[in-house]
Order: sequence, then C-alpha cells, then structure tokens
Amino acid sequence: MSDRKPIPEKFRSNFHVHTYISPCCGDHEGCRPENLLRIAEGYGLHELGFCDHVFIPRPGMKESYGASEQEFLFVRNQVRMLEYSATRPLLGWEVDVFGKNSYSLHEKYLEYLDYATLSCHFYPEEQERVAFQSHDTAAARILNRYMIAATTGFADIIAHPFYLHKQWFPDANAIHERISQKNLEEFMCAARENGIALEFSPVLFRADYWNVQNAYRIYDTARSMGVKLAPGSDAHTAGAVANHLTTAFVLEDLRLDDSNFVCYDELKHAGRRAI
Ligand SMILES: [Zn+2]
Ligand SMILES: [Zn+2]
Repeated sequence: MSDRKPIPEKFRSNFHVHTYISPCCGDHEGCRPENLLRIAEGYGLHELGFCDHVFIPRPGMKESYGASEQEFLFVRNQVRMLEYSATRPLLGWEVDVFGKNSYSLHEKYLEYLDYATLSCHFYPEEQERVAFQSHDTAAARILNRYMIAATTGFADIIAHPFYLHKQWFPDANAIHERISQKNLEEFMCAARENGIALEFSPVLFRADYWNVQNAYRIYDTARSMGVKLAPGSDAHTAGAVANHLTTAFVLEDLRLDDSNFVCYDELKHAGRRAI
C-alpha cells in the first residue's frame, strides 16, 4: 500500500479554464462550456471556473488578444443555463493588469461574475515593454506589477504567479533570481492582507521550459506567509481540464493540504454576482 497522502479535496477544483471564445483556445469544438463541465465531472472536480480573456480596447492592445464583449455575454448565458450535479460551474474573467488602475475589464461586468482572476502577462505589445529591459529593471517592473495585482480590491485570484512566457522572456530564470526573497515576501503579505488567493498552476512546473526551483520558492513562500491557493490548470483544450492533478505529487513536498487551498465559498468576493 502506498503511504502517499490522498489529494486534498479542495485541489479537486479548477478556477482557470478557457472556453472556445478565448482566441488562445486551441480546441474550439471541445471547449464549449457544457463539454468542459462534463469532462470535469468525469475527473471528479467539485468546481469548474470558466475564465476567458475578453478584449477591452486600450492603446497598444490587439483585438486578437481576447473575446469580444458580445461573445463573453453569450458564453455567460451558456454557463448560467448549464445543468449540473457533481461539478459546480462558475463564471470568472482573466483580467490583465497593465499598470495602476489599468485592467482589461469593464467594471460593469463585475456583477456578472462569480469571481475575478488577475494576470500579469507582460505582452510585447504593451507600452511598457518589460521583456526588453535589463534583468534588474525587468525584475523590478514585474514585482511592481504583481504588487498592483496583490492590492487590487475587486480581485479574487492571481493567476500563474510570476510565470514569464519563455518566448517573450528567454532570460526568465535570470530575471527570477533578481527578485529577492524579501520582496517576494512583501508581495505575499500584500496578497494575504487583501484576501487574494494565488493560483496553483501546473504551468509553473513544466520542467521542459520552466524554472521548477522558482515554482517551489513561490509556493513555499505562499504557504509560510499564510497566502491561500486556488487550483487552476489554465486549460486551453478540453484535454487539459484536470492538468493540475498531474502536479499533485509536489503537494506533499511543499507541505500543502486542504488548509492551504480555497473552495469557491472562501474566495474574497464569493457570492458577489448580482445577475
Ligand atoms: Zn494567463
Ligand atoms: Zn488563462
């Protein structure tokens, strides 16, 4: 018999799944909400959060970045009409943080949402081109952006924390080394004080293109600082709905259990949705 601990119950949820309306979704037929929900039920997930990019016009951003507002409203209707039993469907939004008071969200939509997830992507099209800066400057900018996220009032979750796309940041590891432990702890402290959960994301553990040491550092620091974690696979295909379960083996190393994870009702704005 294995002496491995069972997977925490709260880890059997997923707050970060893209539907077919996100342009980055690679599976437009499979990623219809009803299909994603059926797959999640098959994996025994308790909660499934649909979390798309929606295009809100702003200087420098291309329309190809996100779904239109009409598409969002259409998917919202589809999600609200879902019949479910084992897996509870939830509607989120992957909101980009571009700077202080600069988000890819119309606040009027907050009352449509069960929760809001913040992302710091550092797209090359942004006016502040973080990827083109020196390691030290980039690290400072990245930290600054995450501090804005951690202190954002309307947010519930911060997605894929300190994840840097390798195609834009070939020096990601060197940049991470420039983020001091003290600064990382200041970020965690701000997130905890604001009641924001950090996403526990499998993309941080992809050894083929990622700095696994850094992933351990981030989640180890989160645990020691009392920051709650929200599982999110960042699925762009139907087959990735439960991808985060493939990283469950690291939970024991990181000493993470149900006390470290949140379910929907423990998110900061649980129950906010008005319509
Ligand atoms: Zn993202
Ligand atoms: Zn995403």
